[in-house]
Amino acid sequence: MIPNAGRWRVAIVGGGVAGSLAAIALATIPRIESIAIFDRDAAFGRGLAYSAKSPWHRINVPAYKMGGVGAEDAEGFVDWLTATQQADWRDYSDSFVSRSVYGDYIAAQLSDVVARGRAVMRTDVITHISRQQSAYELTNAAGNRQTFDLVFLCLGNPPPSPFPGIAPSSRSITDVWAPGALDPIGMNDRVLVIGTGATAVDVVIDLHRRGLQQPITMISRRGLLPLIDAPSQTDPAPLETWPEPTTRGIFARLLADARRKMAAGIPWQTSVDTFRLQIARLWTDASQDERERFSRHLRAIWLVHRHRLAPDVATLLNQLQSEQRLTVLAGRIVKAQATPTGYDLELRRRGGQSLEMTADWILNCTGPEERYDRIDNPLVKSLLATGIARIGNNGLGLDVDTTCQIKDGSGTVQPGLYAIGHATRGAFWEVTAATNIRHQILHVADTLRQTASC
Ligand SMILES: Cc1cc2nc3c(=O)[nH]c(=O)nc-3n(C[C@H](O)[C@H](O)[C@H](O)COP(=O)(O)OP(=O)(O)OC[C@H]3O[C@@H](n4cnc5c(N)ncnc54)[C@H](O)[C@@H]3O)c2cc1C
Repeated sequence: MIPNAGRWRVAIVGGGVAGSLAAIALATIPRIESIAIFDRDAAFGRGLAYSAKSPWHRINVPAYKMGGVGAEDAEGFVDWLTATQQADWRDYSDSFVSRSVYGDYIAAQLSDVVARGRAVMRTDVITHISRQQSAYELTNAAGNRQTFDLVFLCLGNPPPSPFPGIAPSSRSITDVWAPGALDPIGMNDRVLVIGTGATAVDVVIDLHRRGLQQPITMISRRGLLPLIDAPSQTDPAPLETWPEPTTRGIFARLLADARRKMAAGIPWQTSVDTFRLQIARLWTDASQDERERFSRHLRAIWLVHRHRLAPDVATLLNQLQSEQRLTVLAGRIVKAQATPTGYDLELRRRGGQSLEMTADWILNCTGPEERYDRIDNPLVKSLLATGIARIGNNGLGLDVDTTCQIKDGSGTVQPGLYAIGHATRGAFWEVTAATNIRHQILHVADTLRQTASC
């Protein structure tokens, strides 16, 4: 049970968008006495995605879809953009603003909460958490301990694990988001990008803007790039009921809905955006087998429809492909032999054709590691080793209940110990975008508010 006497001391581990939105939402609950937000990288308000500095690292939806920070604040970000004269959000084509601008917005909202004395920011790594009756003791890297009543783990996007079959070498970059990771790449170097999703596209655009002269090769099993975004329209007939949560049934229904909308002049993207709101519930209701079926057969197809490209980014990728400066392959790496200057590679296209190439660099752009038993975060390792937490459904993230409270090794809910965002993928699956994370936090904050008033 969450302690129902006295005021609550809150710790938030991770100061990215999830941690910052949590601090902002929790600061509105009077019962909460104090909030300490810890971040290893001092990336308060920004985290990994919104610390990106280059203007071409942009949000993948128009600004108006990012929303604000609160439940009644749907236009918070665009209002802030207009007030600070950052961008004319009403112009759809120009409103895929830089990720750093969204980071500025969240950081400004967090600063307000700090300035009002409702939260403090601490640059620190939390390495260990132990249960102390109805509270939790947090230990930092220096061994200092502090006790809190409620703890929120907002640990975010772990770098991918090393790609299987690629011999380790200084010419293989596993964490492309590490500061300066791409700097050693020479402008005449040949690059193989593993992955064709959002991270891979970001890296290709980055290398192109830096002036890379050599053609880039991207490879993934299906070779699918994210699709282009389109201005959303109000869905006149949203699909709300789903008879049975089977992968096949859901996708057949979604496809039929998209076709119906397109025939009526409404972009298919509208169907996807409406459906997205149902995913957490459908994923929770689905059987383990159905979730696995989805992950095996439809995950890649869903992701390219769900996480889309700004129209001008899609145009640039098309242009690079038509000029043969970018090749997108569907297939797999059969051999990657490290050489003093890179790799000798054998690739096999889907369909069987073999292809040999040499690359000076291999970049692993497969996206954040989802399996928490593989990640290198000392806190996660400690939580799993001590049995305070266990791995989530289908091997993803950490196991949580419907209110995001962590379950221990025996499946018992740990009252007041929460995970938010990426770590809850096993339970809800659709938890990546800032808007999903905000909804998750607002739901938890509402539950706490009700507990506080009991
Ligand atoms: C490259 C990229 C682009 C994206 N673009 C978009 C987009 O355009 N639109 C959109 O809606 N979503 C986008 N996303 C999704 C994005 O993941 C979320 O919107 C959001 O950034 C996740 O925030 P987070 O706070 O959970 O994680 P993170 O941003 O990863 O932050 C986690 C923080 O926790 C800290 N931390 C971890 N462990 C510890 C510890 N033990 N002690 C102390 N601190 C710790 C880390 O230092 C880090 O700062 C993108 C994601 C990526 C990776």
